[in-house]
Amino acid sequence: MSVMHVGVYCGSRERVQDSFRRLADDLGSEIGRRGWTLVYGGGSVGLMGRVARATHQHGGQVVGVIPESMDTVEVAYRDADELIVVDTMRQRKQLMDDRADAFVVLPGGFGTLEELSEVITHRYLDYHAKPVVIVNHAGFYDPLLELFDHFVEHGFAGDRYRDMYAVVEDVSGAVALLEGD
Ligand code: AMP
Repeated sequence: MSVMHVGVYCGSRERVQDSFRRLADDLGSEIGRRGWTLVYGGGSVGLMGRVARATHQHGGQVVGVIPESMDTVEVAYRDADELIVVDTMRQRKQLMDDRADAFVVLPGGFGTLEELSEVITHRYLDYHAKPVVIVNHAGFYDPLLELFDHFVEHGFAGDRYRDMYAVVEDVSGAVALLEGD
């Protein structure tokens, strides 16, 4: 079987609680230990940078996709095995989505939400059939998951939407799902 390419969406900001940083380290370690390849936004800051460094430290490969204009903000991770510089955010997302076999979503902010929302809607629309795993660390995503249910309860999203993503509590739950697929 070919190497699993794990797409990771997560926050890019530095000033977040330690437990979030550890989560990113854990995910990178597990990806690296399995000899998988991380596909992510290519930055060296925030949880993004931590996942990438931990993946490398544990023997995995790193593919980063970063828009040229974001290099100053997110500071491209120059040690990536492959660093793809694109023109726009849309191209970034497209390439990441093409390269990944599955998506894992760690805590993040608006950028992460935008990516998560797109990957879920695209799965619903059958643009892809890749697993989407939300790591709901310490209930971080509870308000969002409630909002998703609220969409369904009010008829703005079909019931089938609930099958478009899996929710796990921690990194080992995410890895178990990926290994099962
Ligand atoms: P955040 O969760 O806001 O820290 O952002 C996480 C990542 O999403 C960062 O790498 C952002 O640059 C990225 N991002 C923000 N908006 C978009 C977008 N429209 N398309 C693709 N990536 C985005």
